[in-house]
Amino acid sequence: MFENAASGSTIQIAGRWSAADSRETIDVIAPSTGEVVATIAAGGEADVDRAVKAAREAFERGAWGRLSAVERGRLLMKFSLLITENAEELAQLEALDCGKPMKQARADITACARYFEFYAGAADKVHGETLPFMNGYTVMTLREAKGVTGHIIAWNYPAQMFGRTIGASLAMGNATVIKPAEEACLTPIRLTQLALEAGLPEGAINLVTGYGEKAGAALAAHPGIDFMSFTGSPQVGTLIQQACAINNVGCTLELGGKSPQILFDDADLDKALPFIAGAIVQNGGQTCSAGSRLLVHKPILDQVLERVTAKFESLVAAPHDEDADLGALVSARQKARVQSFLDHAAETGIETLATGRISPNAPPGGFYVAPRVLGLVPPEHRLAREEVFGPVLAVTTFEDEADAVRIANGTDYGLVAGIWTNAGDRQMRMAKKVRAGQVYVNGYGAGGGIELPFGGVKKSGHGREKGFEALYEFSELKTVVFNH
Ligand code: NAD
Repeated sequence: MFENAASGSTIQIAGRWSAADSRETIDVIAPSTGEVVATIAAGGEADVDRAVKAAREAFERGAWGRLSAVERGRLLMKFSLLITENAEELAQLEALDCGKPMKQARADITACARYFEFYAGAADKVHGETLPFMNGYTVMTLREAKGVTGHIIAWNYPAQMFGRTIGASLAMGNATVIKPAEEACLTPIRLTQLALEAGLPEGAINLVTGYGEKAGAALAAHPGIDFMSFTGSPQVGTLIQQACAINNVGCTLELGGKSPQILFDDADLDKALPFIAGAIVQNGGQTCSAGSRLLVHKPILDQVLERVTAKFESLVAAPHDEDADLGALVSARQKARVQSFLDHAAETGIETLATGRISPNAPPGGFYVAPRVLGLVPPEHRLAREEVFGPVLAVTTFEDEADAVRIANGTDYGLVAGIWTNAGDRQMRMAKKVRAGQVYVNGYGAGGGIELPFGGVKKSGHGREKGFEALYEFSELKTVVFNH
């Protein structure tokens, strides 16, 4: 992989690696140190066009398109096993490229392997049915591949997103073209290499590295794409949807969030508080489903703040190989973005209630931000409404259940929510009233499970990936009517 990256030959089309047609490259910067560690190709329109044509060839005439669902499943299982065999190397790449602690990177690679395992097992279990109709007719539905699917992913969990979106699409028999985020390409490049080693036919996965405005925009707009899967910001999500509208194809949009953790006065705080801290610190808060708002029932505010601030003051951001609570943020740009939110909070009178530490071993060139608790943040304040995408927890209080629902639903987002209460009737009422794609009661799984449908409402996007739902997204239902 590093040989490819050293020469900038990181575009893989129909099994062959090349540089960008333009010969332009992008430096890969390790967030832990700020140093350049590799060079990737800055692909453009011509590269994307070749990749889409290769995928079409693989789907319509190549070995990939001829495989049965059972055979596809077996190949995906081989791929999953190869990921597990190479897990340590992949985790090191993921940690180096994203700045995340090794334990997080290892968990991400385990999840990536599990995605391929899950979709390997599911490949031959999604099918059509026969439907009752008028006498003299037999009607059946067939679930078929869409054709060529395009995948644009974000930089925060490149390995997991690769598994989530490519695994599901391949399981249904599509051929794929993926454009990873320019900030984090190393794991997707290595995974693409391993897919070929596992025996996936040429053209099943094609990968074009490059900038979003060029390679990403070219992929989304390509008329040869039958369906787009996008993970990233709401702003770019809108552009993707516009491009899909012009080609009249569908898309899933997995976008941002401002997920609330709603803590009632009857909650088990011993159980809740580790989840609450973990859900905003995991991956440095650079998680779409980060629990970035803590809504606290007024009667328990003092005791909650005492415990949350003590926890945050003990947290340490450190280089990825130190395996601390969190690593560096992904880029200088991301660090500046988080800092601008912190500055805005200070300028508008929001108090910093707790600040974690940065390890003394952290190189000055790395992109470190100490975790913060901010409070109290009025629900209408930017810190309570906009996605910071960093280790910043905004604390707000609420009076009663109705107030909690109003505040929880008071942002443009609706991805995930956590509800902490021991009252069964309240659990059910809240789960129904909170607008989000996933709701956790007395628990919180940032990112959700591999087997569970995941996606948002409102500006958090639409469509569902993960679980079986993704297989429906990546396939077409055809109705066949026999008149006999
Ligand atoms: P981003 O939208 O800037 O970039 C995401 C991807 O889109 C990258 O590959 C980028 O190169 C590409 N891109 C950028 N401009 C493009 C364009 N004009 N046309 C086509 N592609 C383009 O997002 P980001 O800031 O890198 O990622 C963070 C965002 O992603 C956050 O909002 C986060 O919540 C969201 N996210 C969502 C999920 C989810 O599953 N819901 C998961 C991870 C991240």
